[in-house]
Amino acid sequence: MKSNIKATDNYDLIIIGAGPAGMTAAIYAQRANLKTVIIEKALPGGKMTRTSEVENYPGFDFIDGQTLASKMHEQIEKLNVEVIYDEVVSIDDDINHTSKTVNLLGNKKLTAKAVIVATGTVEKKIGVPGEDEYYGKGVSYCGVCDGFLFKDKTITVVGGGYAACEESLYLTRMTNNLNLIHRREGFRADDKTVARVKNHPNINMHVNYRVVEVLGDLDKVVGLKIENTETKEVSEIKTDALFPYIGSDPISEFVRHLGVCDEEGYILVDDTCQTKIPGLFAAGDVIKKNLRQIVTATNDGAIAAQYIINYIDNVN
Ligand code: NAP
Repeated sequence: MKSNIKATDNYDLIIIGAGPAGMTAAIYAQRANLKTVIIEKALPGGKMTRTSEVENYPGFDFIDGQTLASKMHEQIEKLNVEVIYDEVVSIDDDINHTSKTVNLLGNKKLTAKAVIVATGTVEKKIGVPGEDEYYGKGVSYCGVCDGFLFKDKTITVVGGGYAACEESLYLTRMTNNLNLIHRREGFRADDKTVARVKNHPNINMHVNYRVVEVLGDLDKVVGLKIENTETKEVSEIKTDALFPYIGSDPISEFVRHLGVCDEEGYILVDDTCQTKIPGLFAAGDVIKKNLRQIVTATNDGAIAAQYIINYIDNVN
């Protein structure tokens, strides 16, 4: 259910972010009859919409991220969860912690007894010359969105985690010439995934290399300058596209003034997903934790919402 904001809007629960954590929290809260709204600045689904292959979400031995995101979205639509498409700029807490004000772009405000921040993370940039200049002209952070633009061309992925490995495998559907550049021998993804990458006939491994410059010709990427991390020797490789998958930063700027984040910006929560501020919760990739997966995001969302159901009874 979409919504127009009214000045008087006062909720039990405001959920910021419609990824797997936020949508799960909404399912639990709505079924408990809390007056709930989700605020989402882009598309429901979060990073799932930019993930090609999901093979570790129980119930599906294989599902593409966009389909899983759509299924979750259909579920919250069936429950009539209200969704406001807008951007949060800050959250204020009242002195007794019984009411939170969520400030949106354009001076709009909503209030609630509890808030869950489930905003996830944003992909990191490598931070080399040419990366910004050629963004959208060969540099992309989303293989699912832009991979088809490079059909039968040379594609280069950077990184050694799950995202780099899985998106490399996905992008081999577009090309039989894919470079994977990783700065060291060890990978962060599991052995099975790494073996699939290393044994893939169309993936050329460049291990112990880092990208030092994106090379372009007028309006398109044509190559990369890469440095061997051991010998420091610099060489050039040809490529039409660069997909950096080198990790992410938490989207938490709008709560940093509340002192609930660590030095990297991840939100610190207890085992009920509550921050040190009563009534302010966080769930999913934006919190400090060891394992960031769709299944752990849904877990956080359920825990936060279930605790809030009891919390709101006590605030009343
Ligand atoms: P990640 O696990 O943090 O891996 C980032 C990779 O990029 C690392 O190999 C890192 O190298 C490399 N890197 C970092 N900064 C770099 C730089 N400036 N230049 C070159 N390389 C750099 O990130 P991710 O793969 O995006 O995953 C993020 C989170 O989502 C993780 O918790 C991951 O488990 C999860 N995830 C899970 C799945 C799944 O289970 N199916 C899928 C996607 C993501 P070093 O190793 O040398 O540090």
